[in-house]
Amino acid sequence: MGEANWSGNYEYRASRIVRPGSPDEIAELVTAATDAAPVRALGTRHTFNDLADPMATGTLISTAGLPAKAEVDEERRVVAVSSGLRYGDLALELQRQGWALANLASLPHISVAGAVATATHGSGSRNRNLAAAVAAVTFVSGTGELVALRRGDEGFDGAVVSLGALGIVTELELDVEPAYEIAQSVYLGVPYEHIDEFLDGAYSVSVFTDWTADAINHGWVKARTDAASDRLELFGATPALHKMHPIPSVDAAATTEQFGVPGAWHERLPHFRLDFQPSAGDEIQAEFLVPRRHAAAAIEGVRGIGERIAPILFTSELRAVAADGLWLSTAFSAGDDDWADGAVAFHFTFMRDQQAVEAAAAALEGVLAPFGARPHWGKVFTDAARVPGLYPRFADFRALVGRYDPNRVFRNPYTAALGL
Ligand SMILES: Cc1cc2nc3c(=O)[nH]c(=O)nc-3n(C[C@H](O)[C@H](O)[C@H](O)COP(=O)(O)OP(=O)(O)OC[C@H]3O[C@@H](n4cnc5c(N)ncnc54)[C@H](O)[C@@H]3O)c2cc1C
Repeated sequence: MGEANWSGNYEYRASRIVRPGSPDEIAELVTAATDAAPVRALGTRHTFNDLADPMATGTLISTAGLPAKAEVDEERRVVAVSSGLRYGDLALELQRQGWALANLASLPHISVAGAVATATHGSGSRNRNLAAAVAAVTFVSGTGELVALRRGDEGFDGAVVSLGALGIVTELELDVEPAYEIAQSVYLGVPYEHIDEFLDGAYSVSVFTDWTADAINHGWVKARTDAASDRLELFGATPALHKMHPIPSVDAAATTEQFGVPGAWHERLPHFRLDFQPSAGDEIQAEFLVPRRHAAAAIEGVRGIGERIAPILFTSELRAVAADGLWLSTAFSAGDDDWADGAVAFHFTFMRDQQAVEAAAAALEGVLAPFGARPHWGKVFTDAARVPGLYPRFADFRALVGRYDPNRVFRNPYTAALGL
């Protein structure tokens, strides 16, 4: 078919990509599907692995053709959005109406449904991942039915981070709050031994490093201008004197405003601007979430293999993510477990060398497995067999797949490897 993902590290094997214009058209496509001729939803293609691909006999259903929708219900404080909308476009519309989301990922270019399906997250010790803002989800199930689940409904907590395995999501409701402003500042020289505390210093904080002994760790601090509770301690870090890109060698024009200049939430929470190419482009990402309480030990562990991964590493980012109760969320906590204080996400932007990245991912898995690390669903990881055991509600999710996709029309090698 010759169609690839955003990175170019994965070429979809699906026989075709279709772009239905309505939920009814989606239902027709799903009804015609079988386990031998499966279908999978496609968002904005920012996943780095084969998660979206229904393979050679299958059809990719792009959500980009669904009519764009962003309707705020002020009383219930939710916005109803079409699944294929990009966060960046949604944010512009929300801001125009005086509303905001609690958080965004590093880039605004990704579709809402694609991000939610893979538990995409931003940063902030008190910010949960983006899927936790979902108040309702509507999808075409494997039998062609339109299913609507609201927060509190049976199965809802399993149906939000779905890996696309329950259906084609057509619409979601997301929690909103009144629009707010953020001031972003970048600091150089955050000491390794204080990274964990540094992450607590403001509404959303990221730390970038290359893990080698003399690395310049730069901390990106996004403070809400209406928050009195931010207590940023610098631990000797100093303000950056010029605008930074997460990858120091890349031109910083693509990054959002820095130097503490206040601006709208959606123009500061992402690192990258909507109208520019995010990150490096020619790259492959891997990411592992570790229980917050093990972050300091995990940092030491990764430093131990820093020199080994450095030759293919553009940059690495650490972010805090609060715990939530969505079954397949990478920050899922049952409340009384290791994840109760949330997670720290260890992210790696590697050069585009698939084999070398897989070797590096395996090495990282070796170091982080003792902490129960969970790989990001949308990035490179190598030990799928271990993954179901990392999620206490995985068997319940499997049962949900049985209910909503009894004929496995959404199954592909990725979900099959998880026993779905
Ligand atoms: C440059 C870059 C920066 C990134 N930054 C971050 C970050 O800050 N934080 C983070 O956590 N991740 C990040 N990611 C990863 C990214 O957020 C995820 O891969 C996300 O899934 C991308 O959304 P998408 O719409 O492109 O998904 P796609 O790759 O198109 O699809 C991903 C999965 O979602 C499913 N899906 C898509 N739409 C639907 C639907 N309508 N119904 C059901 N299932 C659906 C697909 O079937 C597939 O399984 C980044 C990726 C890139 C390339």
